[in-house]
Amino acid sequence: MALVDVKNVSYVYADGHQALENVSLQIEKGERVAVLGPNGAGKSTLFQLLNGLLQATSGTVSIDGLPVEKKNLFQIRSKVGMVFQDSDDQLFNSSVRQEVAYGLMNMHITGKELEKAVDWALDVAGIAGYGSKSPNNLSGGEKKRVALASVLAMKPEVLVLDEPTAALDPHGVSNLIRLLNTINKELHITLIFASHDADMVPLLSDRVYLMDSGKILTYGTTSEVFGQKENIRKIGLRLPRVAHLTEILERDGILKTESIPLTIGQARKVFGNAATLTGGGTDTIVGRNQNTQSG
Ligand code: ADP
Repeated sequence: MALVDVKNVSYVYADGHQALENVSLQIEKGERVAVLGPNGAGKSTLFQLLNGLLQATSGTVSIDGLPVEKKNLFQIRSKVGMVFQDSDDQLFNSSVRQEVAYGLMNMHITGKELEKAVDWALDVAGIAGYGSKSPNNLSGGEKKRVALASVLAMKPEVLVLDEPTAALDPHGVSNLIRLLNTINKELHITLIFASHDADMVPLLSDRVYLMDSGKILTYGTTSEVFGQKENIRKIGLRLPRVAHLTEILERDGILKTESIPLTIGQARKVFGNAATLTGGGTDTIVGRNQNTQSG
């Protein structure tokens, strides 16, 4: 049984706009899954169905076998932690500590247990010294960590993050990616996030669902989906920059490789491999190889 099971879901807004059409996805415990799609693809609508902020017009959504229905919402929301795109939509308490305690207090957790859970969540999110600050006075990256801490405090099984790195500076983006990967690896929390950022998605996902106009176009491992270049480009998205560079080097006859890198780390392997090959390997920098062979 999949932890997150969305089956044949459609969603029509009150004004008649169909935002989702026959969407299905299954996500197992511990996975890191990206929903990749341009603006308006239906990603936020899909995410709001996962914790019952919206109810599917048709089809079913269940978490850990529990249908997302009104009578189950308390349990569903303790399993699914939602981190909104704009932290200001999520933070409304006057101090960081109160913000992180809020959800726990709604679950009637008090006293030492409350304090311990708040301290733990602040610590995991890397904002242990921020408890007395006002969320209003924090940077975008710090606000994102407060939102994350307030959700983590409830010990969710799944973290659902809508465009988690939008509006963060490059330093904030790499810190957040590192933090989310640690949370996934060490706390075994499943990650589902929406993004249209081709460079960021491979750093945080094992699998990708590609979405456009309310439909899932394709899904698979991150490499499989980015390997479908036509599908990516036809919906107005692009490949990761290193993949595009590799494509250009191949087209120009400078490099031959069977594995298209999606991240700088993967590119270093492919390019480093090619630069040190003396021939016969799968990755070849053409000029370098000719020199090596003739020398
Ligand atoms: P994404 O998160 O991929 O940008 P959304 O789920 O926000 O996409 O939106 C999907 C589609 O639904 C868009 O065409 C959007 O205009 C429409 N939509 C979103 N919210 C509403 C709403 N409250 N009423 C009507 N249409 C909406």
